[in-house]
Amino acid sequence: MKPMGPIPAWFAQEEGMLIVGGCGAASLVDEAGDTPLFVYDMDIVEAQVRRFRAAMPEVLHLHYAIKANPYAPLLARMGTQVDGFDIASGGELEMALAAGMAPDRISFAGPGKRNDELEAAIFAGVTINLESEGEGRRALAVADNLGKAPRLAVRVNPDFDLKGSGMRMGGGAKPFGVDADRAAALARAMIDAGADWRGWHIFAGSQNLDPLAIIETQAATIALAARLSDDVGASPPLVNLGGGFGLAYFPGDERLDIRPIGVALDSALENLPDILQGSAFAIELGRWLVGEAGIYLTRVIDVKVSQGETFVVVDGGLHHQLAASGNFGTVVRRNYPIAVANRFGAAPATEPVTVVGCLCTPIDRLGDKVALPPVREGDLIAIFLAGAYGASASPAAFLGHPSPRELLLG
Ligand SMILES: *Cc1c(COP(=O)(O)O)cnc(C)c1O
Repeated sequence: MKPMGPIPAWFAQEEGMLIVGGCGAASLVDEAGDTPLFVYDMDIVEAQVRRFRAAMPEVLHLHYAIKANPYAPLLARMGTQVDGFDIASGGELEMALAAGMAPDRISFAGPGKRNDELEAAIFAGVTINLESEGEGRRALAVADNLGKAPRLAVRVNPDFDLKGSGMRMGGGAKPFGVDADRAAALARAMIDAGADWRGWHIFAGSQNLDPLAIIETQAATIALAARLSDDVGASPPLVNLGGGFGLAYFPGDERLDIRPIGVALDSALENLPDILQGSAFAIELGRWLVGEAGIYLTRVIDVKVSQGETFVVVDGGLHHQLAASGNFGTVVRRNYPIAVANRFGAAPATEPVTVVGCLCTPIDRLGDKVALPPVREGDLIAIFLAGAYGASASPAAFLGHPSPRELLLG
């Protein structure tokens, strides 16, 4: 037997059926028409936003990094919950605008922005977080053609990283942002060229469960923003402090307590260096806002035995839920929380089972030697923490299976 990540504590059952957003899992599948199905519960997202607002300084802006989950009905609802969207492509720009987000509350990061993407962003009035000097030159040229002053911020590759993060995005050589020792010069050049300079974007890491590491990184980020702004000789309108709030996906993980982060940030914002006194501050989060709100439901097609080991074969797989297969952002494969939705809370069988997807590849493993109640054909398997980096972050075209269905509740 191998352990699995913790099932979020609020999930209950009625007559053995997992309840999601007040409905039984099987009736949700009926409503959606079929499995595999992602269900997102907006009530859980909104509770998470309330938790953020309660813990963080009132002046802090909350941005949603829409790459975590760009499902259109969810995005439309998110637009009323957060202060801005962070996007990373021209496609996400269209999604953000379609969701009704005001352009001046959208910022566009990400390496390799094409000229047509820069043009669409500048035309719309979106802030571009510059990833390089070259991108700065192209943005100015595109803006010149449009006859518009571009809104530009500089993304900094900080000289530190968020310790213990799942994915490191700062510290050392990186394709993201401009090295800290060249960032001020780039900002100055953009200001001198007539751009509307929006400030700094400093993202040091992702998927972190250690409040102290996050506190330390935020302090270093504020200090870096102050030092760079002094070098530029101008106050930044906005300092985007990055994000990094993680989720308890795996065995032994504990839910991140954000309250100490709020306390530390409160005092940091009370004691800002002079040059940042008039600046606004933002945190950008993806998975932390939406991940816990999602469940992936997939039906058991086959239960088979090979050399004494039982395999549960489901109609979903890594083409929808790559992260749960251990092939998205993790080095070692560990089990996401997983359950039999129509036997939720029942005692596990004596022998563990391995839950595999329907793709003809050995990496399509959704649960490795997990303790589940006895599983039969037709049962529903639920994978928790499926609200972020699921449907849109998985190779849906691989092997020609249908796309997953998606349903928003609440
Ligand atoms: C992906 C990304 C995020 C969101 O990361 P999460 O781990 O989902 O919170 C935020 N900012 C930037 C720049 C990103 O690339």
